[in-house]
Amino acid sequence: MTDLNLFFDPTKCFIGGRWVAPLGGDYLPIENPSTGATIGSIARGQPADVDAAVAAARAALAGAWGKTPAAERGRILTRIGQKVLEHVDDLARIEAMDVGKPLKQARADALALARYLEFYGGACDKIMGETIPYLDGYTVYTLREPHGVTAHIIPWNYPVQMFGRSVTGALAMGNAAVLKPAEEACLTAIAFARIAEEAGLPAGALNVVPGLGEEAGAALTAHPGVNHISFTGSVGVGRLVQHAAAENVVPVTLELGGKSPQLVFADADLERALPFLVNAGIQNAGQTCSASSRILVQRSIHDELLARMAERYRGLKVGPAVADLDLGPLVSERQMEIVGGFLGDLGGGKIAGQGTVVGDAPRRRHYQAPTLVANVRPDNRLAQDEIFGPVQVVIPFEDEAEAVAIANGTDFGLVAGVWTRDGGRQMRMAKAIRTGQVFLNNYGAGGGVELPFGGVGKSGHGREKGFEALYGFSVLKTVAAWHG
Ligand code: NAD
Repeated sequence: MTDLNLFFDPTKCFIGGRWVAPLGGDYLPIENPSTGATIGSIARGQPADVDAAVAAARAALAGAWGKTPAAERGRILTRIGQKVLEHVDDLARIEAMDVGKPLKQARADALALARYLEFYGGACDKIMGETIPYLDGYTVYTLREPHGVTAHIIPWNYPVQMFGRSVTGALAMGNAAVLKPAEEACLTAIAFARIAEEAGLPAGALNVVPGLGEEAGAALTAHPGVNHISFTGSVGVGRLVQHAAAENVVPVTLELGGKSPQLVFADADLERALPFLVNAGIQNAGQTCSASSRILVQRSIHDELLARMAERYRGLKVGPAVADLDLGPLVSERQMEIVGGFLGDLGGGKIAGQGTVVGDAPRRRHYQAPTLVANVRPDNRLAQDEIFGPVQVVIPFEDEAEAVAIANGTDFGLVAGVWTRDGGRQMRMAKAIRTGQVFLNNYGAGGGVELPFGGVGKSGHGREKGFEALYGFSVLKTVAAWHG
């Protein structure tokens, strides 16, 4: 583990403020996707560990954490955020090793975590109820209360940002959280627990149980002591999680996949649009829920835009995380096979431009050259399914009506971008596209921490980020007082 130089023990679970070995005594290897080397091990949490974590969270609600006033919760979160800033380079280095993302991307993710803590730290004491005019002799008001124990299951693609947006919002509302990070990428979640402990977060407010989805994850989502589930991941697992939530009749937020389009009209400022168009497809090697994997372009500028995007693609470089190039490796062999499966059957599509895997990238690792594909029909699976790799398709359209029909023609609806100088068209498109976020003349890939985020259709339901997340992580109670 020396090259990781960790400031915490990655083999432990963090439960009730204590660092404990998994009760089953089993561990999972940590692979560095850039090299294929095994760089350590993490706990393989079992249902018994999840039981302990839920019990610790419950105890925290009945104890110090539950009694912590909102303003003090805010101070604690703010302190954790300051400590995250002190550890930004550590977190970036660890995340880059664990997930394979280029260092500058990993650093941006760690800074986003600090920003979540700053935002939600400041919001803790600013969520208020209302008074409601009612019958004569009554005073009616509402209270916003925590759900209780919140479960958080996150994927491997942006671990730091995912637990940042989910756990910090839940803590801000006074919930006690149990986090099950993805088995491929647990290190920064464990690091976060260590940082939170150092910053004085009361015991049991945050518990981390690493492990496999079908073991620790399934046990957590089915646990009768959990009062709210926040799940980020694939549609298939999201469906299982929603079933589990239904069994216990608890609310669930599902942040799932996407096939997000950017619509480029002939009057667009292409100079400004180009870097956004390409970056939204290749950032994090395309392993981004809000990746813009479909570029819809008005036919009159199709050839010009395709040529300019292809030129950019030819300049993109892929290599190990530490080389800090445009793209790192894909996270796993499995992910490489999935992406290869799409590229192996273009269904009439033609490769218009491709980046380069640098010569000294370790052989037989999961390095995928970013690929731009033209001539793709809207009903082709390249244009319908989430690829989760650095592949973008370009599809022409005639007019607004056809652009909207193609944009809305998938099962997903997470993010959309619209590029046009026409103000009326901007408003029409923003209304007509079925999606959770619309970016006009920019593309945020999820946007800042202030902006509510989430999907429609198979992209999920519920919102995280911004103040909206705090409503989701709380329950509204109505109090009707008769006083005559
Ligand atoms: P995944 O669904 O395979 O795994 C996500 C998490 O679920 C992991 O922690 C995993 O251990 C856990 N899990 C697996 N089986 C489980 C089960 N039976 N019960 C409970 N938990 C279980 O997803 P992934 O491959 O890690 O991530 C990629 C997917 O995540 C993509 O579809 C991507 O679009 C999506 N994603 C969405 C967002 C968003 O905000 N909408 C953000 C990031 C990623």
